[in-house]
Amino acid sequence: MVFDLKSAPDYSYFTLSKPNRLVIDLGGTDDSIDLQKLTNDSELIKRIRYSNPKDKNSTRVVIELNAKASTNVFSLPPTPPYSNRLVVDFATDETAPQQVVQQKDDEEREIIIALDAGHGGEDPGSIGSAGTYEKDITLSIVRKLEAMINAEPGMKAILTRKGDYYVSLNKRPEIARQAKADLLVSVHADAFTTPQPHGASVWVLSMRRANSELGRWMEKSEKHSELLGGAAEVIEDTASERYLTQALLDMSMDHSMTTSYTVGREVIRGLKSVTSLHKNTPQAASLAVLTSPDIPSILVETGFISNPKEEKNLNWETFRQRIATSIFSAVKSHFQNVPPDGTLWAKQRKTNRTHKVRSGESLSLLAQRYNVDVSQIKAANNLNGDMVRIGQVLTIPSS
Ligand SMILES: [Zn+2]
Repeated sequence: MVFDLKSAPDYSYFTLSKPNRLVIDLGGTDDSIDLQKLTNDSELIKRIRYSNPKDKNSTRVVIELNAKASTNVFSLPPTPPYSNRLVVDFATDETAPQQVVQQKDDEEREIIIALDAGHGGEDPGSIGSAGTYEKDITLSIVRKLEAMINAEPGMKAILTRKGDYYVSLNKRPEIARQAKADLLVSVHADAFTTPQPHGASVWVLSMRRANSELGRWMEKSEKHSELLGGAAEVIEDTASERYLTQALLDMSMDHSMTTSYTVGREVIRGLKSVTSLHKNTPQAASLAVLTSPDIPSILVETGFISNPKEEKNLNWETFRQRIATSIFSAVKSHFQNVPPDGTLWAKQRKTNRTHKVRSGESLSLLAQRYNVDVSQIKAANNLNGDMVRIGQVLTIPSS
């Protein structure tokens, strides 16, 4: 939680239990801001309210919590574009990622897409000449992607950040890993020192960086059990554990790098229909957020915020929706073609039939014949309209 302040804060704080609260006294501050109007999508914070101040020159803010949390309150000096800030970091005892992994044992699992909105909080990312912050653009696009993914049965989105706060670059892939993500999509907007460069691009982890990350992981034995899962418990011999870890990592790296490149290419194909391209093939790079040799990861630069025309585009809600839709469609069609084992989509694919369209057949006729909804056939084949061609091979989902 961050308080934006006009000057360096004069503050003190203490915590109370039953119910859990954090009380902050801010000197030289009045209570003219309507706290009821603050949006709150935190699971931890129940509500924020004023209380009787300790003296008439200060304001007392009470943060009511749903659970016991340790708090760290500190001030930050101004760094453009921000003024003075008072930051409250909460840490709960329960490990948050547990809530993310909702494995349903008796059902096929969902395909998990980790969405990473670049920058945030103290780090605004690139700033356009009209004053657009990259961090706002990236979060907006990610939120649109999240809505589309979560509306899709069999898919689920998790976010590395849900608001305007800073998450370290190492933490981001870690969040994806803990959620057992099938893909990590990091969203950014480029910038350059001159206004000319424009267009979107897609980046993947470079082989060299992947190998050096792999080496780094091999050195950290605590990473081994994480990667080996239950297998680590049965391997007692350190040498063979190392060998097996290496073999598993190599395999998963092969898979994730191939997947990253394939998805990257499909995303570029989608972006091409909604914006201009800066590079028309996925570019390999050593970027901090793309450090997971085990999770397929792509970084999408949605355009140049330093290009006035593209800054204007990125500020346009419809454009951001188009970008999000094109990324979503590419990711969806990729996983429809190659659904990961154990997922609902993998099961559906096995039970799906195909049908070659003959003269006189329509979607509604086929839907009736196979006892499925027209919308199901359309979804299974990525169809936007109701038209089908003679000879077209359609996937018929199981009813
Ligand atoms: Zn960026």
